[in-house]
Amino acid sequence: MTRAYNFCAGPAAIPEPVLQKAKEELLNWGSVGASIMEMSHRSETFLQIASEAEQDLRNLMHIPDNYHVLFLQGGASTQFAVIPMNLLRGKKKADYVRTGIWSHKAVDQAEAYCEVNLVTDTMDKGYNYIPDVASWNLDPEAAYFHYTPNETIGGVEFNFIPDTGDVPIVADMSSNILSRPINVSKYGLIYAGAQKNIGPSGITLVIVRDDLIGDTLDITPEPFNYYIQARDASLYNTPPTFAWYLTGLVFKWLKEQGGPEAMVEINERKAKKLYAAIDKTDFYHNDVKEDCRSWMNVPFQLQQKNLDTNFVTEAEENNLLNLNGWRTVGGMRASIYNAVPEEAVDALVAFMSEFERRYG
Ligand SMILES: *Cc1c(COP(=O)(O)O)cnc(C)c1O
Repeated sequence: MTRAYNFCAGPAAIPEPVLQKAKEELLNWGSVGASIMEMSHRSETFLQIASEAEQDLRNLMHIPDNYHVLFLQGGASTQFAVIPMNLLRGKKKADYVRTGIWSHKAVDQAEAYCEVNLVTDTMDKGYNYIPDVASWNLDPEAAYFHYTPNETIGGVEFNFIPDTGDVPIVADMSSNILSRPINVSKYGLIYAGAQKNIGPSGITLVIVRDDLIGDTLDITPEPFNYYIQARDASLYNTPPTFAWYLTGLVFKWLKEQGGPEAMVEINERKAKKLYAAIDKTDFYHNDVKEDCRSWMNVPFQLQQKNLDTNFVTEAEENNLLNLNGWRTVGGMRASIYNAVPEEAVDALVAFMSEFERRYG
């Protein structure tokens, strides 16, 4: 069996050595005589796996001690509601940047809990740029400022951290966490579903500064209360133990690769190769403004839309999987997360040029 190059946006590619290790350990973890899936989340073995995963992430991201790391469920979409429940802290308003479909969904859910101030909004212009910060309408009274550093569908990525004064920054890093070094201390809260740039679906990471938790809306269900989850080390109820374990294996793999400091160089090279292949011909195009093109998700269109299906099927025949764009957006999208090797991008670029030679 050959494993193909997988450009899926999520659940996405997982490093092969991680899958190998999980396979070896599937039936019998260590010498305990049972699978990790079959043991109590309160057993010594699982507690060890859980805390090692947290420690490895803390090391990889240099997370300061005054931040909690939570391993939760429900995906990033659940956090769209859980964030206002926890972070309004008696305030009535929150700042939101709307630069794509995911931040749009975050705004929609937040509106049920607070007054949303749209700091900047590119919905009318097709979500393909980030307006100059000089035009932003920040509210110094906002409980927090929310943005999506990498819009997975539009392929729009911030290359800077906004300056919001004393208002804590909340960032949905679902599709670019760990892709490059980030300064955690600039953020109040970082969250990410694991299934894009980490590994399996089922785990949602929340990294939150300790002074921001503990003052929730009265309606907050207990499993959604960051204070309770932090107090209980994310073991308030049964967590997805296997996904947590696999996430921990990915962190160990990342450490072996040299962490975000090493990944950023590979990721930049991969992205530049792919954008260069798109830009050098009219046969393909990407309409995201150059200063905010994503290094993780690269949407592109064929000039002749009637060739979309041929492109996707022939790519599959060449072991290049999941290149179709998002369901309502169409076109193509290559997600080139940490686990997608540079050879995969080289193979895609070669295929694109061969496809153009035959159809262009
Ligand atoms: C995929 C994605 C989500 C939604 O994640 P779920 O885990 O499916 O809820 C939210 N935000 C971003 C940026 C994403 O890429």
